[in-house]
Amino acid sequence: MFDGPPPDTVPAPPPPARRGRTLRAAAELIAAGLLPEAARAEAEAVAARYAVAVTPAVRRLMDPADPADPIARQYLPDAAELRTAPGETADPTADAPFTPVKGVVHRYPDRALLKPLLACPVYCRFCFRREAVGPDGGVLSEAELDAALDWFERTPSVREAILTGGDPLMLSPRRLARIVERLSAVPHIEIVRLHSRVPVADPGRVTPALVRALESDRAVFLCVHANHAREFSPEALEALARLRRGGAASLLGQSVLLRGVNDSADALEALFRAMLAARVKPYYLHQLDRAPGTARFEVPIAEGRALLRELRGRVSGLAWPTYVLDSPDGGGKAPLGPDFARFEGGEWRVDAPLRRAAAADAPGPG
Ligand code: SF4
Repeated sequence: MFDGPPPDTVPAPPPPARRGRTLRAAAELIAAGLLPEAARAEAEAVAARYAVAVTPAVRRLMDPADPADPIARQYLPDAAELRTAPGETADPTADAPFTPVKGVVHRYPDRALLKPLLACPVYCRFCFRREAVGPDGGVLSEAELDAALDWFERTPSVREAILTGGDPLMLSPRRLARIVERLSAVPHIEIVRLHSRVPVADPGRVTPALVRALESDRAVFLCVHANHAREFSPEALEALARLRRGGAASLLGQSVLLRGVNDSADALEALFRAMLAARVKPYYLHQLDRAPGTARFEVPIAEGRALLRELRGRVSGLAWPTYVLDSPDGGGKAPLGPDFARFEGGEWRVDAPLRRAAAADAPGPG
């Protein structure tokens, strides 16, 4: 007779030791061989303005011999960040006008963001909240958190609470559990969603206690942010497996379309396939939000649509996120296509992906 727990609930092994420490200063990045000495002054100037952090796990993913390394590009400071391009703004998704109480953003009637802290495991050079996030933490005080949770309790139209930041998995398991518990006790909250870079950027943080903190009788979704297939390292896969085995949260994937990181059909295909292999469903592919100093990452929308069009038929619908732009006026996420149907000659015509591929393969005249 089998008298142990079913295989999927076997207690997870302890996470791997978190080797090394997070690099935050230009001097540390130079000493680690990630930046040349010649970049010191510029890197110091960038780090004085925007937070920098490279965790040991992310450091191990970088290839210092590759000047175009897609992992390094996401995290290492660059002098271009000090130049603000036309159209870039400090609050490109207009959070501030939709903030009823500190730490809450209420844009859509049925859902709202809760930002319990503004610290992250790493600081992405393209971050849309780069003017706000940093290691100082921006942690809501007990009174502020209480007021924010009160707001959720008093707002019955809100069915989905979305924990973001910063990164909510940077909270202590105890504090995170308290927040999840309190939200789960609100009768009108049906879904608790969390957005995090921790499983790929600092997987050792995904401890059994952190996994338990996500337990709820509500539907819990953890949206894992990753932009390149290599971010699904063996350590990250172990962290995701611990989350899965814990069973508290369903896993979704979110990415940003980034020049030099994932701006080809091959890179996107590899990314979405890596997500699915890790049992993470690709959910959103974001057009870059125009935060200050991020222009070097921007891929024009027409190019993004063409990339996704190329992918259609190459990957299954499971590997197909919705390509969206967060409206800069705070109006919410708009799907950007591409479209495969058009009304022509009084009827709907579709560009069936396989038919297009066959046409492309067919020999031309002559
Ligand atoms: S983890 Fe998210 S919030 Fe934090 S720096 Fe990166 S993009 Fe910004």
